[in-house]
Amino acid sequence: GPGGVTLLGLGAMGSALAAALLDTGRTVTVWNRTPGRAEELVARGARAAGSVREAVAASPVVVACLLRYPSVQETLGPVAGELRGRTLVNLTTTTPNESRALAAWAAGHGIDHLDGAVMAVPAMIGSREGQIFYSGSRAAYDALLPVLGVWATSEFHGEDAGRASLVDLAMLSGMYQMFTGFLHGAAMVASLGVSASDFAARQVPFLSAMTHGLADYAKVVDGGDYTVPGQQSLDFSDLSHIVRASEEQGVDPTPIAAVQELIARQIAAGHGSEGFPRIYESMRAAGSTA
Ligand code: NDP
Repeated sequence: GPGGVTLLGLGAMGSALAAALLDTGRTVTVWNRTPGRAEELVARGARAAGSVREAVAASPVVVACLLRYPSVQETLGPVAGELRGRTLVNLTTTTPNESRALAAWAAGHGIDHLDGAVMAVPAMIGSREGQIFYSGSRAAYDALLPVLGVWATSEFHGEDAGRASLVDLAMLSGMYQMFTGFLHGAAMVASLGVSASDFAARQVPFLSAMTHGLADYAKVVDGGDYTVPGQQSLDFSDLSHIVRASEEQGVDPTPIAAVQELIARQIAAGHGSEGFPRIYESMRAAGSTA
């Protein structure tokens, strides 16, 4: 019917997306590579398609929530003809260049394409709590807002199809490094008999307070002048004592040693008296500007 949506991929995320649409009374057609994963959704009113081709033909809007880019290519490649004139929403996690390649493929086959990056776990789908970033076709985004709004808070990032993915992956990079930093610290204090839970109780308020520093670092990076007074200098930030402390406990120092390496490169280049955010220069792409 009008507003019908097809969901390809009924893993944890695909099932949550389909269920949220069913809750709003929409016509939902579902397909999964391995049979048997649609039963619960069918009991709630979904129509199960016997093939990708049949699933695509059932709705003007086709959502792919598979595993990684190759699974999207394998699944959609053979049904490019059926997708023509429809809107494809890819919610499978892909790299920015994979999203752009999918956009080019879609454009070549007359398929309207929107690429989404899900900033939520399945349990958050269907609430405003989660966020989904989109990029690609602006017209598709505008037309689909009633559908997208069912899942999460939506944000359009631009017509470059790789943008949503890049912002998503940059956000996740920060998150995983914070998680890793916490786990590394927990391993360091384990020799004291401090449990990871006790350490978490200390780290959470400390890290929360430290996040206030991000905006100050950002100002220095954006201003491009790492000599702004009042900053912690790189010389002061030498972390070799933390690396040694980790080693003394027999704990692999890889995460903190990576930070130390970025610092050391800037000190070696003669920037020891400049602020800690200068390590941004150790990482940023050649030729890019802040
Ligand atoms: P699951 O592992 O639960 O499900 C993976 C799905 O992909 C299954 O339906 C699986 O089908 C299908 N699949 C895998 N390989 C292929 C293939 N070659 N051809 C066809 N189908 C294939 O993953 P999620 O549902 O959790 O994740 C789906 C996507 O959503 C991923 O890209 C993930 O990064 C993204 N995402 C997930 C989040 C989460 O918290 N779960 C958060 C944000 C994004 P089959 O049953 O046949 O194996």
